[in-house]
Amino acid sequence: MRVGTLVLLCALVAVAWSKPVWKEKNRGYKNYRLVRLSPTTQDQIDFLKRLENTVQLGIDFWTPSDHPGTHNIDIAVPPKTYRTFIRLIEANKITYKVIQEDIQSLIDTETTSNNKAREDKIKSKACESQGNSNWKGKGKNKCKNGQDAVATFSNLATDSIVGTYARHGEINAWLDAVAAESNGLATVETIGQTYEGKDMKVLKIGEDGTKPAIWVDAGIHAREWIAPATLVYIIDKFLSEYNSLPELNKYTWYMLPVANPDGYEYSHTSDRLWRKTRSPQSWGCRGVDPNRNWDSHFGEAGTSTFPCSDIYPGTGPFSEKCTQNIRDFINEHKDRLKMYLSFHSYSELWLTPWGWGTEKPSDNAEMMRVANLGKTAVQGINGKSWTVGAPPDILYAASGGSYDWAKEKAGIKYAYTLELRPDGNASNGFVIPTSEILPSGKEVYAAVKKVASELI
Ligand SMILES: [Zn+2]
Repeated sequence: MRVGTLVLLCALVAVAWSKPVWKEKNRGYKNYRLVRLSPTTQDQIDFLKRLENTVQLGIDFWTPSDHPGTHNIDIAVPPKTYRTFIRLIEANKITYKVIQEDIQSLIDTETTSNNKAREDKIKSKACESQGNSNWKGKGKNKCKNGQDAVATFSNLATDSIVGTYARHGEINAWLDAVAAESNGLATVETIGQTYEGKDMKVLKIGEDGTKPAIWVDAGIHAREWIAPATLVYIIDKFLSEYNSLPELNKYTWYMLPVANPDGYEYSHTSDRLWRKTRSPQSWGCRGVDPNRNWDSHFGEAGTSTFPCSDIYPGTGPFSEKCTQNIRDFINEHKDRLKMYLSFHSYSELWLTPWGWGTEKPSDNAEMMRVANLGKTAVQGINGKSWTVGAPPDILYAASGGSYDWAKEKAGIKYAYTLELRPDGNASNGFVIPTSEILPSGKEVYAAVKKVASELI
């Protein structure tokens, strides 16, 4: 038995008395630390892979473990098990650094920024509706005509969600509203309901049935809030620019801003860092990783058979309602679909197939050409330098992913996963203020336009 394993076993006995951390409801993250590890040997990686399934520690891998030396591994650690965790890391001689002392303070900062962004939107809207006046601007409670800009959080107008972290119901209402006001340019199709009965609404932009098509989804991982917010921004731009830009109007676009509504809502109401779906599983745990739930090398690399794990792929391919609904819609339209894009966060990566292993598709050179054009377009907006490549080469292997299925099984040539802001060196990961939404939207919109103009 290796020293690392022995220390791990002893540590688990020591923490076994405490109730499992993963079952807490309405959980907060006070004094949870974010620890960045830099493993350099395969032994250290193997140890971290075992640790990933050790739920008693209550730790949360924000970036899963894989190759030594290729990327940082960020792990959220509860205060209760922090000392045990550090003992294990030190026993395995893994270099580490605490990059956040209190994850709850990150969440609080994000909440404040979102409340402020919503309040500003509401004040601006209130001034518009009160005698066509304009709001005086940030920090002001008056409209330019002197009237009060009354703001309450309960009345975020359906056309005012751009630049905020909106709830799923607000996003659905907004999709209905923008479609109704689009003079026939856009329509909403409900592609099915989730396990909890929430409507999954796709916005179709452009005429349906004849043109080649492009699919874009976001938020299949619940806690990656920047992804749906970025797609909402892009939809808003599409509605005003679709008719005038040939790279947009030569396609019909299908946009699904929240691909995992049950998980997304839960991340708003109960656990900001929830990742999975919300369907009941064995061991009293809930949820499946919906981006390990697709029928492409299901249950292989980057998954766990333990139902409480964040990378549990489910009992079989498409066990989840949300992935079934997307699969069925894509299968129905696959003959016209030229590109599949899925927005995640974080690390600033343009991921090419395959996610499950180092083998490459036969058209890899073309996949890389278009991906690199996307990267260049992103860089042209705010100077962000994304990394392009297949997950096993630059991040970590992950099987059963949606974009692998889109290319392998649905035959969609250009299938990519985009990991949005922040970059891999940031110390806030999934929890970023609303001030990042517009810059993210602008750079990803530029990239989407560029790649759409280059498909062959
Ligand atoms: Zn993700």
